[in-house]
Amino acid sequence: MQSNLKSASFEFFDTFVEARQTTRMDFTATEVGLVKEVSKGAVEISGFSEVHADELLAFPGGLMGIASTIARTAVGVILLGDGDDLQAGDEVKRTKRVIDTPVGEGLLGRIVDGLGRAVDQGGPVKFSERRPVERPAPAIMDRAPVSTPLQTGIKSIDAVIPIGRGQRELILGDRQTGKTSIAVNTMINQRQDGVLCIYCAIGQRASAVARVVDELKKSDLMKQTIIVVAGGDEAPGLQFIAPYAATTMAEYFMEQGRDVLIVYDDLTRHARAYRELSLLLRRPPGREAYPGDIFYVHSRLLERSAHLSASRGGGSLTALPIVETQAKNIAAYIPTNLISITDGQIYLSPELFSKGVLPAIDIGLSVSRVGGDAQRRAYRAVASDLKLYYAQFEELETFSRFGARLDDETRGRLERGRRIREILKQSEKDRISVAEQITILMAATSGRLDAIPVKVLPDADARIRRAVMNIEARRRNALFDGAEFGDKQKTEVLAIVADALSGVDYSVEKDAL
Ligand code: ATP
Ligand code: MG
Repeated sequence: MQSNLKSASFEFFDTFVEARQTTRMDFTATEVGLVKEVSKGAVEISGFSEVHADELLAFPGGLMGIASTIARTAVGVILLGDGDDLQAGDEVKRTKRVIDTPVGEGLLGRIVDGLGRAVDQGGPVKFSERRPVERPAPAIMDRAPVSTPLQTGIKSIDAVIPIGRGQRELILGDRQTGKTSIAVNTMINQRQDGVLCIYCAIGQRASAVARVVDELKKSDLMKQTIIVVAGGDEAPGLQFIAPYAATTMAEYFMEQGRDVLIVYDDLTRHARAYRELSLLLRRPPGREAYPGDIFYVHSRLLERSAHLSASRGGGSLTALPIVETQAKNIAAYIPTNLISITDGQIYLSPELFSKGVLPAIDIGLSVSRVGGDAQRRAYRAVASDLKLYYAQFEELETFSRFGARLDDETRGRLERGRRIREILKQSEKDRISVAEQITILMAATSGRLDAIPVKVLPDADARIRRAVMNIEARRRNALFDGAEFGDKQKTEVLAIVADALSGVDYSVEKDAL
């Protein structure tokens, strides 16, 4: 009796397995689905028996989509283009591949869209291969600590908020505070260092992108640059995919041992595009109506930046994501997410901008968590004094506005701080070499400029910069790029400053003030 029961149950199990297998086979045969519901940017499809997450689906007319939400009865698809002609009942085919982008040397100098298709007048893009836009970030064992500086050519960043190759440094600030200018300036400064640049514009006005392109062309940087554009008027799906595609293009070079800089301008708009898609796909909204996985969306993008170990070729990918704040609220959802994902932030203050302190970097709220290790020795000799004097100055300046009577020492500190702030100002087009930066900052922090009226500081600044560039290149490199920067070197630099200012009498201007 017992054995009978056992065999009966086995029989039942076998038929069950057989039935499942046959249905499964039937399912795989259904490779075509039907559009069930169309909304702007996303559609819902039914009829597929099998479809993979993130699989590329083909719509009539060459339109593509990504299978994003897979439910039992329907598949939510993100459209990679304009879906205006789609109708309920249209046929959709599986492609059995994930979305990919062309990569290779042929992309340098080109302007492409979020799928790597040319949008300039240079004809089709020549590429060596295609790679998926979503790729896993390098493993911990494949990474090396950040050890080489990435010079921005901007005094306040290179001295106080240094960036290393492989680092992710967030640029955040309100509208029109100079975020793009800092990123573009940094890219242009890579011309002599040979770092490749990728500028990914997400959701921007076409005129803003045209301005950047124009600037890069004028600076002769296009030959080492790729521009990826997903404009504000394009499908949210294309805006969502663009930074991933741009990163895949960058990784191609990084994996060959080269150094790459990528700018995402900006991730606020990227988050908005993703929120729009998620709401259309009826995912539950979370804080500020963003979907629950918005943090993961950005962290899996930024984790792909790295400095690879020597065994993996030693290449690097440095990221400068940009995020726009509203009414200086850096504690909003997307900015706080990004602050916690990145290795530091450069905060641009609208107040400083309106006061004319440009670039409007708020040194107190900006930080670089890893770049200090990569910073040149010579900077370290000035950076700590600079930070200290500047912080004291900001406090004293607020205090002195109330008309308090100040003793000589306090007044002295206030005057030095004022000169440091003046020296840190830099025009949008000005990129300053390491030697010039260190000499001028050392002149300011050591008090050599205290006696010079603020009004004529630009003249003194120009003299000092000229003097340091006039010394023999070999001596200059030994001085500023060496592994050591001690008292001996400091004395040498201050001697250059003294030479530059000797024989110049600013007292006439002082009287005139
Ligand atoms: P948006 O929020 O529109 O993207 P943004 O924060 O990227 O703006 P930018 O476009 O870089 O800001 O700059 C805003 C304006 O400030 C531009 O007209 C630019 O020329 C000017 N500007 C930026 N930096 C400087 C600077 N260091 N010196 C002088 N002008 C500057
Ligand atoms: Mg901008």
